[in-house]
Amino acid sequence: MQITDLQTVVVDAASEFLANPSASKRTWMFVEIHTDEGLIGIGECSQSRLDAGVAVAIDEMKSYFIGKNPVGLMHGARQHWLNNPFASRIRYAAVSGIEQALWDLTGKALDQPVYVLLGGAVREDIPLYANLSQATQSRSPSDLAEAASRAVADGFQAVKIYPFPQPAEVTFGRGVALTNQERDLAESRIQSVREAIGPDIKLHTDWAWAVTPADAKEMAHRLLPYDLFWIEEPFREDDHAELNALRRFIQPRLAGGEQLSKLISFRELFENRALDVVMPDVKWIGGISAFREVEAIASVYDVEVAPHNMSGPVATASSVHLSAVSNNFLSLEYGYAGVPWRDELVNGTEIVENGTIPLPTAPGLGIEWNGDAARRLSVG
Ligand SMILES: [Mg+2]
Repeated sequence: MQITDLQTVVVDAASEFLANPSASKRTWMFVEIHTDEGLIGIGECSQSRLDAGVAVAIDEMKSYFIGKNPVGLMHGARQHWLNNPFASRIRYAAVSGIEQALWDLTGKALDQPVYVLLGGAVREDIPLYANLSQATQSRSPSDLAEAASRAVADGFQAVKIYPFPQPAEVTFGRGVALTNQERDLAESRIQSVREAIGPDIKLHTDWAWAVTPADAKEMAHRLLPYDLFWIEEPFREDDHAELNALRRFIQPRLAGGEQLSKLISFRELFENRALDVVMPDVKWIGGISAFREVEAIASVYDVEVAPHNMSGPVATASSVHLSAVSNNFLSLEYGYAGVPWRDELVNGTEIVENGTIPLPTAPGLGIEWNGDAARRLSVG
């Protein structure tokens, strides 16, 4: 089998329910690897505002891949394109998408699901947590509570909300104290959701770099009655000393790491004991093999893994296979109640049941990619 072409397609995945779609731009970008045997491998490499750069990077890589046998080319592709201290985040995303597509093709060629090629599953269902950011028209406490109730009624055992100002509303990592109004609104959002879901459902919170280290301590203390399961990215991810100090102070787990690409960046986070839960994203770290390496390093530091995945069905499938084989896996993120046409991209082969995804049995990534549907929904 020989690779004949690499093609990308981008769809606009900002939910129609988003209050401010322009500020919250979310796209899903996919890369198809075509072969002379008619098999197509699929990967996901969305960078939202930087998709055009990823497309250029993939275009530049084409001549390396065309004519090569895709089966078992995953390590070679990473070595060739990422073994370079200057490799950018855009190149990491490009390689991530291609690497997933190579796993998909390799699995299809060998007629095995990717998790079998990774050593075999240690669980049969992948528990999801519902990220509610696309599920409400507003972020009012009552709307969030209603969305959380729907997710719980659908079987999710964990939900996630953003209680503080989001990057779309303020300068990212603004480094200024919260106003009293922002503190009160955050508590009110969390209180409403906790009341709606009851005591047994896990409540994750993503603080999205919105607070200072001092405010993080104060708010973590104030929010103790609501039994948060984790606090995610309260402030700048590279401030390991402050993260470590906060981690020692608070009761909930401290989660983060979604922004990182390079292995050494993860190692530094772990060495500095800055996290309880790491959230690598298969779209941004170099793909499936790279994720396994991050996970292995995390296990040495007793850090749990919860894959970052506000993604489409392809990165979700890759994350499902990774979650299936992981010993320190916690739960997989899922964009609850997002775009209504999500299923069309994979002909309904992404099965979500009772807040879990059962292990797929089809070869490769186990989904049926519909490139025509993606092109129909494409934003160019
Ligand atoms: Mg996050």
